[in-house]
Amino acid sequence: MIIDELEHYFIRRGAEAYLGEPVTIAQHMLQCAALALAEGASEVLVAAALLHDIGHLAGSGGEYRPDDTVDRHHDEGGAAALEGHFPAQLVESVRLHVAAKRYLCATDETYYDRLSEASKHSLALQGGPFSADEVAAFETRQFHREAVQVRLWDDGGKVAGVPTLSFAEFRPLLERVALSAS
Ligand code: FE
Repeated sequence: MIIDELEHYFIRRGAEAYLGEPVTIAQHMLQCAALALAEGASEVLVAAALLHDIGHLAGSGGEYRPDDTVDRHHDEGGAAALEGHFPAQLVESVRLHVAAKRYLCATDETYYDRLSEASKHSLALQGGPFSADEVAAFETRQFHREAVQVRLWDDGGKVAGVPTLSFAEFRPLLERVALSAS
């Protein structure tokens, strides 16, 4: 069952991968979900916030390191892991959360300065801010607004020492959001 697999990733690998941030990747995703909850987001988007970086944990070689010199495409890896198990709104928000950073860098002049150093570094590997054509193309993607929302929680969920719910406490929500076939 997909949720057991996801919990396994959180527990087995979530504490190892640090993202170049003062939180583990599991803490980061749990903080993002907490931000989504605090804003009264839908359960699908809370789940998207919780799972948005699963590609760092679920894929082979997907783990991010701050000295990476290539992009490991954890956005596509995460979407691939979730596709078929969760609604398209969640899957596309995960797929587009890196594109959303490039989009926000091109469309909000205050955004880049608010990124963490690790996120500025990965931005360069991911292709930098979008061009005008890329901005226009992004705005045609289904669920791009939701991806931008997930992205903003992503940027906020990197604070050391913030208490969060555990993955286990999010399981009932994930079970409600998951497609019934999974
Ligand atoms: Fe993230």
